[in-house]
Amino acid sequence: MKAFEKNIRKVEPYVPGEQPQQKVIKLNTNENPYPPAPGVSKALQSMDTDRLRLYPDPTAGVLVKELADFYHVNPDQVFVGVGSDDVLSMCFLTFFNSEKPILFPDITYSFYKVWADLYRIPYECQKLDENFRLVKEDYYKENGGVIFPNPNAPTALYEELDVVEDIIAHNRDVIVIVDEAYVDFAGRSAMELVDRYDNLIVVQTFSKARSMAGMRIGYAISNPALIRYLNDAKYSFNSYTMNQTSLVCGTEAVRDKEYFEECIRKIIHTREWAKEELRKLGFEFPDSRTNFIFATHPDYDAKELFEALKAEGIYVRYWGSERIEQYLRITIGTEEEMKTMFVFLKDYMRK
Ligand code: PMP
Repeated sequence: MKAFEKNIRKVEPYVPGEQPQQKVIKLNTNENPYPPAPGVSKALQSMDTDRLRLYPDPTAGVLVKELADFYHVNPDQVFVGVGSDDVLSMCFLTFFNSEKPILFPDITYSFYKVWADLYRIPYECQKLDENFRLVKEDYYKENGGVIFPNPNAPTALYEELDVVEDIIAHNRDVIVIVDEAYVDFAGRSAMELVDRYDNLIVVQTFSKARSMAGMRIGYAISNPALIRYLNDAKYSFNSYTMNQTSLVCGTEAVRDKEYFEECIRKIIHTREWAKEELRKLGFEFPDSRTNFIFATHPDYDAKELFEALKAEGIYVRYWGSERIEQYLRITIGTEEEMKTMFVFLKDYMRK
């Protein structure tokens, strides 16, 4: 071993879902099957490319202002980043600096462990109950911070706001991050608690309900003091996280509230129909409040099913990790895509 090896920061990286380059039915990374708002396409077509000579506005002012207006908060309560992964990673770096372990569920977004390892943050996973529900009392113990997604991923379960508030209220001495990547498909956001709890940060994304995973935009809403700390960390890292194209397109997407709501309505409609179809085929799953369903079948091995679907050009997500070896995560696609999947499943299960 080379002498320098021992000083290299080694991490076990997060493994993103496959992005196949050939055309497949892609139900594996929780993308939105519908295009972004029409204004985004228009903005791209009329974009002034000469503007690309210049650095973008480091404050991302136009996007921050649009988001602040949309959520009825002040611009100094909004932080934006390159997807919520960037925002969450910045939050870990900025707010989780205790010797005590941070707490998050055992079955959850697998990036949390990776950031904790990367930044040398001690952590302790709290076991979800046998129905994959969050046990709020597990978060009452002393800790260095708390993070959980609501709805959780990959379970798709949404905890009502009183559960979320209870966890925040029991942790007034540390920062609590609620990762709301899927909340637009679920119910009330914890954003309404931001004025009452100075230890709360809510993180959301443009990747799901706003159909812009490829543009990489995420944001945090909190009180001005915590947002300032986040910006201080950002400016100590990379001042120009948001490129000009993201600023222009992101702003356009937020402006079209009607399109946003229509997209969500369509996906929820398809999700509820897909639940019935899955049930008819004998699948079992926690009641999804997201744009995906986390399903298992008592008679079919999940890995075999995953591979059979893939051979058919239908990509879903499979982890094979502890407690979820028999589960597949199926993103809600268009009704047509889902129908194709069900035709295959019906045929496969008849054999
Ligand atoms: N949080 C959760 C729970 C997610 O599932 C994802 C999507 N992989 C993210 C955050 C990150 O999404 P993005 O970086 O695209 O905003």
